[in-house]
Amino acid sequence: MQASSTKKNQTTQLRQLTLLAPLSGLLLPLEQVPDPVFAQKMVGDGISLDPTSNELLAPVAGRITQLHDAHHALTIASDAGPEILLHIGVDTVLLKGAGFSPLVKQGERVAAGQALIRFDADAVALGARSLLTQIVVANGESVTRIAPARGRVVAGQDTLMVLDLAETAATSRQGSDSSSTSTQRSAPVRLPNPAGLHARPAAVLAAAAKKYLSDVRLVLGAKEANAKSLVAVMALSTKQGDEVLIQASGPDAAEATSALAELLAQGCGENLAEAASPAPARAEPAASANPVAARTVAAAAGELVGVSASPGLAVGQIVQFRVGAIDVKKTGGTPKHERARLDAALHEAHAQLETLKAALSDASKAQILSAHQELLADPDLFEAAIAGISAGDSAGYAWRSAYTGAAAQLEALDNALLRERAHDIRDVGRRVLALLAGVAQTAIQVPDNSILIAEELSPSDTAALDRSKVLGFCTTTGGATSHVAILARSLGIPAICGIDAAALNLAEGSQVVLDGSSGVLQTAPDAAALDSARLRMAQQAQRRSEEAAQAHLPATTLDGQRIEVVANVRNAADTLEGLTHGAEGVGLLRSEFLFDERDTAPSEEEQAQAYSAVAQALGPERVLVIRTLDVGGDKPLPYLPLPKEDNPFLGLRGVRVSLARPAMFRTQLRAILRAAPLAQLHIMFPMIATLDEWREARGILAEEQAALGVGDVKVGLMIEVPSAALLAEQFAREADFFSIGSNDLTQYTLAMDRGHPQLAKQADALHPAVLKMIAMSCEGASQHGKWVGVCGGLASEPLAVPVLIGLGVTELSVSVPAIPAIKAQVKRLSLAACQQLAREVLLLGSAREVRARLAAFAAIAETTTT
Ligand code: PEP
Ligand code: MG
Repeated sequence: MQASSTKKNQTTQLRQLTLLAPLSGLLLPLEQVPDPVFAQKMVGDGISLDPTSNELLAPVAGRITQLHDAHHALTIASDAGPEILLHIGVDTVLLKGAGFSPLVKQGERVAAGQALIRFDADAVALGARSLLTQIVVANGESVTRIAPARGRVVAGQDTLMVLDLAETAATSRQGSDSSSTSTQRSAPVRLPNPAGLHARPAAVLAAAAKKYLSDVRLVLGAKEANAKSLVAVMALSTKQGDEVLIQASGPDAAEATSALAELLAQGCGENLAEAASPAPARAEPAASANPVAARTVAAAAGELVGVSASPGLAVGQIVQFRVGAIDVKKTGGTPKHERARLDAALHEAHAQLETLKAALSDASKAQILSAHQELLADPDLFEAAIAGISAGDSAGYAWRSAYTGAAAQLEALDNALLRERAHDIRDVGRRVLALLAGVAQTAIQVPDNSILIAEELSPSDTAALDRSKVLGFCTTTGGATSHVAILARSLGIPAICGIDAAALNLAEGSQVVLDGSSGVLQTAPDAAALDSARLRMAQQAQRRSEEAAQAHLPATTLDGQRIEVVANVRNAADTLEGLTHGAEGVGLLRSEFLFDERDTAPSEEEQAQAYSAVAQALGPERVLVIRTLDVGGDKPLPYLPLPKEDNPFLGLRGVRVSLARPAMFRTQLRAILRAAPLAQLHIMFPMIATLDEWREARGILAEEQAALGVGDVKVGLMIEVPSAALLAEQFAREADFFSIGSNDLTQYTLAMDRGHPQLAKQADALHPAVLKMIAMSCEGASQHGKWVGVCGGLASEPLAVPVLIGLGVTELSVSVPAIPAIKAQVKRLSLAACQQLAREVLLLGSAREVRARLAAFAAIAETTTT
């Protein structure tokens, strides 16, 4: 059938754009292209053409925003908004330009029908997989419908397709299609990342690129990717040492090019030394990222072998877990309706992940779910889905094609890390699909003592596992670096990934022994094997119970230094739990938990009851350190309006809020003082930076004490700001004690936002600069006979305990579950050795060196005590 021969090349009243056939030949649907990237519309929606001519013409007027180095493809940004990618042949990038002669330059304006690339059809057809030429809309959101022609077309005469333009298409382009648009290329950058641009650095690059209006590309030789797309960047499958460059076109192209090239050179937020050789303290069980290579353990009869994903032993019964398919209809409502549904589902999925994150106590797990949120905002995934919707697919069908296509692309790569990330795409994709299909995703229901066997467990499934029933799990996919493995480790569930697929045929309910440390599943353990496994489990449990049994005894080093191990709590319930774990008191009551999630501030009475309940739980002999309200612009309260601040961490925060709201401050102080007779009451102020702040807060407290007639209260400050550590001696003249808030002290010493995803790994409390601050605080305190505690996260980190003790810390306020192990550790240490260790690490230059030294110290301490 002959296509219509309209020659309009501009938007009509109906806001349509007509594209001319760029070549003569036969039109085919994209699905028939022998390349999943096009067939699954991952690049965009459009049409394919089997050419009989050899000169590619511009289907539309516009600007050449990108001419590929291999001269087989280019993109035209049309004046009406849509960006049209023209791609001659399949796998023609591999010809590296042979057989192609570009007739235009990048950045040049072209008229509809103008010749763009001439090619030697015979040579290209011989050298490439196919000569099929694809014409797709690269920015799917600029159109609401694509109506392709059919049959044979004549180049420059016949219509190729008609695009219905989205409302904003023309206007949204104006910013980047102005005459100031220019294309910039950075100098080549050699990638320093040991595993190339895998998920995390790719996410950092994509997030940074999205800040620019310009079109930004990451170029690797003849290949390139939309730098704003995490999926596209990962799919480039870069390796360490690859030379890449940034190419940007648009109004801020110059800034984008230089900033992103610099980011690449710096490793995109990856701690390069650590990524190359993980610090011993964080080293995971030895296993290769390549599941096949990791199978060094030969499978004996009755054994199935995989990769050690999470250490530990479990004896339990097989439960086969299968994910049900989610059905969606191919066709949906109008593109507008389906797009609205997709938007709503993406929004809802984001909110679901936010809720899941909030329920997690572990930062590494939360990070995985944050990466899923980032995938929800991936422009390439979104555009691929929109392209499907524009072609009449339902939102569910289009979304499923988009994410399964992206996952399949990563799975096909020769890179284990990227193959793992395909699971994340499928997981988050399924979450959105379930919402679109109206299918409830429920938590996995299993019987007691289960060992789950699955092809794949999504991070969401894993995070929601009932730890009391699931003793371990095996997946046939994934490796030691998979998110499911990371989650298993953080949950303390023994797990094997990449296990032999025969595991999927194991009978339900059969008894097995799972050894997560060696990656072996014993499928038919005899009585002796079961006994041996149970014996080893008992030994491991014994160590934990010995620690628990000793947890109620004071913690004293081998050479007699008493260290108080106390608890960080929010309320009386936490306090009671802390006491059962051996807490000697409370080193940090975070009083802001009383103020959170409500519409009005708690009254004095309400507060007094809460503080007194904690004090009562402790009794008159034990120490209770209450920290006054620690909120601020970074964590606002609805009833405490604070001005919007550019730098909330440096603004009204901590004690500064209390000083700015003296009435509220006095109410809190009176409520706290009412608990004084019930425990050894200590009050401390958060985020003190100056002596003036300290004196003002101390003065207000003194007035309330005098008014209530409460005398015997110790008053101290948190050392969280470098100025307080530097003036520790002056503060120690007036304060009764210091408590180091290592979380904030780290952020303020290193000038790294404690919640910043890109800086998370560098904002390390074991940085020698932070340790120097702690040393200074201890020295200042000791000059006046005052004690120093640590209540930040560092105190709960076993690696850090010896150095903190060596620096002069005598109180460790830790999370409740950590109490027995930290007490047991203290008892194995000698103060003299810790002091020597502290002197050594203060001379080191980086957190990595400190961690390595502390790991060596821990290894020696372990061998001398076992
Ligand atoms: C700290 O900063 O280390 C601390 C204990 O306070 P926060 O509640 O800010 O973590
Ligand atoms: Mg703090």
